[in-house]
Amino acid sequence: MQPTVLLLGGNDQNTRALMEQAAEKVATEIGEIISCSSIYQSPPWGFEHERWFLNQVLVVHCPMSPLVLLAKTQEIELQLGRKKKTTTHYEGRPIDIDILFIGDQTHRLPILEVPHPRLHLRRFTLMPLCELMPSFIHPLLGKTLLQLLETCPDKSIVEKLD
Ligand code: ADP
Ligand code: MG
Repeated sequence: MQPTVLLLGGNDQNTRALMEQAAEKVATEIGEIISCSSIYQSPPWGFEHERWFLNQVLVVHCPMSPLVLLAKTQEIELQLGRKKKTTTHYEGRPIDIDILFIGDQTHRLPILEVPHPRLHLRRFTLMPLCELMPSFIHPLLGKTLLQLLETCPDKSIVEKLD
């Protein structure tokens, strides 16, 4: 089974607690957590919003198919208070769970793109990824995550929390 890599994030005042609850639900409803990164803090990306974002990467043993996995992550988001999207713009959110990688699989469906199509453009995703798996090769870009971090055009602040 290939390791599945998830990104937890959010910018609500409850996000830190929600990330812990999300990790517990991932462990019971999706699969065993093999490793998890530190939590990273970064300024809002792509839109103006007062509160900073928190992000964390989880590596999971996931036996389910990609679309079942997506349904599960969306179910956990809703259970933890995420509202259905009301605009096409970015907005603040209590908890977001993105699927970054499913091993070296590639999927290009309207509802599921894996590897996540913007992960290499986002420092807040690459920093926690590099903490856990710097030499993992992006299956479409053919570069390691460390190389992608070094050439990432996003130079925004990303701080590791204790
Ligand atoms: P975003 O995370 O891009 O800010 P959302 O969490 O609201 O936005 O996700 C919007 C849609 O993205 C979801 O309905 C889902 O079908 C789709 N999607 C496509 N690829 C992925 C992926 N790799 N992980 C999670 N959602 C994805
Ligand atoms: Mg998402």
